[in-house]
Amino acid sequence: MPKRVETRLNGVNVEKKCSVCNEFKSLVEFHFQASGFYGTHSWCRKCLSEDRYKKREEYRARSKRWYQDNKERIVEYNQIRKLDKYNLTEREFRELARNGCMSCGEMKDQLCVDHNYNTGKIRGILCHGCNLALGNLGENIEKILKLAHYLEDRSMENDINRTVKELDSRRDRTDEEKGNLGSFRKSDTREDS
Ligand SMILES: [Zn+2]
Ligand SMILES: [Zn+2]
Repeated sequence: MPKRVETRLNGVNVEKKCSVCNEFKSLVEFHFQASGFYGTHSWCRKCLSEDRYKKREEYRARSKRWYQDNKERIVEYNQIRKLDKYNLTEREFRELARNGCMSCGEMKDQLCVDHNYNTGKIRGILCHGCNLALGNLGENIEKILKLAHYLEDRSMENDINRTVKELDSRRDRTDEEKGNLGSFRKSDTREDS
């Protein structure tokens, strides 16, 4: 048995009582609902939108809590899903990753599968840092070797004799320093040569 809907006539306007706030409101203040009384929802638009807002906030808080509680499982699940892409089982991955990153030997960092884009085959297991470096240098062996050579070459004696200023924090920088951070003017570089 549906709840009795109270209506009243206000001049020529029919008004209906909202079942939540109990206020009489004209029909335009209710959303359309074919099965409802006068073809309108039993909650007024305001109550309905407030309820939706509350539910959305509750939902957000709940899913945030759920994420915090299940963070580790989610990370693991995503890893397994990624392994699926590489046609690897979790066991095969653990076996491949047992000695850590195949380049630097890092164990702690998150390890990932490295694959050759040309052949589509798995090349090996790399830590996050090595994988990023490889990508940033375009997987170019010459560039990677040159960078290693650069580091070796720019040893203490070869350093450009200028000590980098330690800035305490962004706030302590003067406006002039801030202005100079992004772009070096020609006059600055001339001093170095
Ligand atoms: Zn209402
Ligand atoms: Zn590494």
